[in-house]
Amino acid sequence: MTHECVFPGRSLVLGRLVLAAAAITVSSASTAWGWGAGHRFVTEGAMAALPQWQKDLLGKELALLGSQHCFIPDLVYAKKEVRKYAMMDSKPDKFYLVELHLPPAPTESYEILRYFMAKAVEQFKAARVDEGARYLGTLSHALEDWGAPAHSVPGDNMFTLMKQFVPPTDEYRYLPMHSPMEGGTFTVDLGDYKPRLLGGTVEEAAFNLLHRVQQSTIHARAQVIPIMRALYAKDDAASNAAQQKAGHVDAEVVADAVYTVLCLGQSRFEPPAIEPLTRVDLSQRITLETPTLAWPQSAFFSKPYWGHPTRGVSMRGGKQAVAIRVKAADDALGDKPIEDAVAVGTKTTLTYLVPPGVYDRLEVWAALHAELGAGGNVIFEIKGADGKTLAKVQVQGDQPAQRMTAPLAGQSTVQLITTTGSADSTHNYAVWARPQLVKAEK
Ligand SMILES: [Zn+2]
Repeated sequence: MTHECVFPGRSLVLGRLVLAAAAITVSSASTAWGWGAGHRFVTEGAMAALPQWQKDLLGKELALLGSQHCFIPDLVYAKKEVRKYAMMDSKPDKFYLVELHLPPAPTESYEILRYFMAKAVEQFKAARVDEGARYLGTLSHALEDWGAPAHSVPGDNMFTLMKQFVPPTDEYRYLPMHSPMEGGTFTVDLGDYKPRLLGGTVEEAAFNLLHRVQQSTIHARAQVIPIMRALYAKDDAASNAAQQKAGHVDAEVVADAVYTVLCLGQSRFEPPAIEPLTRVDLSQRITLETPTLAWPQSAFFSKPYWGHPTRGVSMRGGKQAVAIRVKAADDALGDKPIEDAVAVGTKTTLTYLVPPGVYDRLEVWAALHAELGAGGNVIFEIKGADGKTLAKVQVQGDQPAQRMTAPLAGQSTVQLITTTGSADSTHNYAVWARPQLVKAEK
């Protein structure tokens, strides 16, 4: 999480990284140089939450993960021997990957998580614990950086734009703010947090980890302005507290990732953990229409109002949130408001990543909002990455919701598309209710 990560002045980078490397060698956790210490606080918090069998398995690497391995992507200039743990086969000429520090768009983020999880699992399977731990260090670093407030504003890593929104004091007028933003001192104590199993395969785990870390990025963004204000006010306690908040969520994500890699590497799964993974609630997942995790205006729909997709509520006239209720034959959806649903208008495209080979099908109910959508007319279509229509229905007037099932074999994305079925689209309060990725029954 150092600002050197993404600052292109090579000689400055090198100088600072050498300094940073020296600091790691000689320092204790109390030495604060940029966010380097932050990596240690977060990783150590995460490691403490692992079950005893995993701590035993890691042995001496457990402590090294916090004191050394989690810094690997920052050390690739200074320490040639660690480069291979932070490189990707797809980019054989690059040993400094900026994506390991700044969250790239979701598809690339997924590939990075999948790649380094696979590398680590492969090493643990071969009982090369020291090698596996180094790949885990790179994975942890990326997760920590992606969930760091200082890395969370797209395209504004030095906060020159944010300073226009939150005007600085004289002290910060000319100073790039990345380093102060992540330069706090804090500890992370996850208490009795139990790391979660994210998947039974690397692909599934990376897919669920992507969701976890995206939530962490969003959470970190809420700390940006509090940290800026605290720095301006020279309120170290407030700045540290806000950084700690982000660090806490970061550590939970790292704990989940490391826990899962070690379960996969040992093929050791606690049976109840695998059970809830057979279905994924797609309504919670972030679509590829939001590469920065926020809706761009270009993805808004125009009918029945001008707005963006919303989870758990429809927007009456675009202004008032109304719980989602839909008509369904045989009470198949119950009579309670449906939270795991996405309300959209026409035309809307929702594109979701699906990890290849993990899920058998997408199940979803296509519906009009029971109250607002009576009189609507909407065509619901599900398409695969290859553009092929996997399922299509039309719902109009006061017709009940229709069940849709789309086979996912061979697909890497799936699109949920709504278009109007008539010239009058003023009642097209459309709903994708209970969208779920479902594994094949065994
Ligand atoms: Zn970094």
